[in-house]
Amino acid sequence: MQLATRMDRLVSSPVRDLLALTEQPDVISFAGGLPAQDSFPSRASLEIPESALQYGASEGDWPLRERIAALVCGRGLQCDPEHVIVLSGSQQGIDLVAKLLVDTGTPVAVESPTYLAALQVFSLFGAHYRPFAPGQAPPSANLVYLNPTFQNPTGHCYSTAEREHMRVECARHQAVLFEDDPYHDLCFENCDRTPVVSGYAGDWVYQGSFSKSLAPGMRLGYLVASENLVQPLIRLKQAADLHSNRLAQAWVMHLLEAEHTAERVCRLQDHYRARRDHFGSVLDAHFGDLADWSLPEGGLFFWLTLRDRHADTTAILEAALAEKVVFMPGRPFYPDTRHADANRTLRLNFSNATRDDVERGLAVLAPLIRSAVQG
Ligand code: PMP
Repeated sequence: MQLATRMDRLVSSPVRDLLALTEQPDVISFAGGLPAQDSFPSRASLEIPESALQYGASEGDWPLRERIAALVCGRGLQCDPEHVIVLSGSQQGIDLVAKLLVDTGTPVAVESPTYLAALQVFSLFGAHYRPFAPGQAPPSANLVYLNPTFQNPTGHCYSTAEREHMRVECARHQAVLFEDDPYHDLCFENCDRTPVVSGYAGDWVYQGSFSKSLAPGMRLGYLVASENLVQPLIRLKQAADLHSNRLAQAWVMHLLEAEHTAERVCRLQDHYRARRDHFGSVLDAHFGDLADWSLPEGGLFFWLTLRDRHADTTAILEAALAEKVVFMPGRPFYPDTRHADANRTLRLNFSNATRDDVERGLAVLAPLIRSAVQG
């Protein structure tokens, strides 16, 4: 059997692999980006209209596209419902954009570090990476992918000046600007979250997700694209899966209509802010002498850089697994794994573990790291 040559470029997602481990009992996981179980909408509101059982439009159900357009306009990005495509998770948007724009050797500018499952997709299509630090000017490239609002993994939120600078630099390179914004609603401080693509002179794609603000198991996200890109993206969506699950679309529509969305988002923010603060105080107690980090202003993660330049968080994960504690080592998030910090960084999810597990898990992890860096 001969697999397609692109399969040589497809690596397994380390997060998905670790997620399988975390399903074992007694494992304390800081690895995945799992939203809090108690943040999900009540299933009592789950009503399936008869019409949702039929095939639907590839772009998504019209009332939902209208809703999404209004939601995105509220964020400061003018858009028509015609330019909205409902996705089977925003991960699908990365796949469709890569199919649209990335050939073998296409220069793609990505933040370093960046969302590792975006790297998985871009690599599959043969991207040639041009890395840049989050918030810094991107190098010239056909496509610039960024996650400017509470970035996964660093939590970085671009300042107003960084947003403007990004628009100017991308326009100078005539790049397609691809903004990934799944954490928009998970905001704990007052910061500028205006989409970078808003007012961008060139072609762009902006995408969001219902995974973090409603529930990831529904696998529903959306994208909005500039005029030139909408029709080709719809054709790719047709070819990929005909359309997204209409039961999920109906439920999301129902939740967005029935609930006071703004109140729900406020509750969610309060809930996660409290978790972040607790996690941060436990980190202060155990990791103060071992690592540097900043308090994330939104999103789901703390990003730690161990002070020891020779630390290897992949090796530390092995030891942590034996103690049934899991986290994400930093290396897979780097497009350039020779980056000076690739081996000494780690990502910790603060939204899913219970308070007790946070305290127990971090109390286990800190001495493991201490002995690894001293030994
Ligand atoms: N982009 C980023 C930056 C993410 O962190 C994630 C999920 N962790 C996704 C896209 C995909 O999210 P989903 O497919 O659940 O919408």
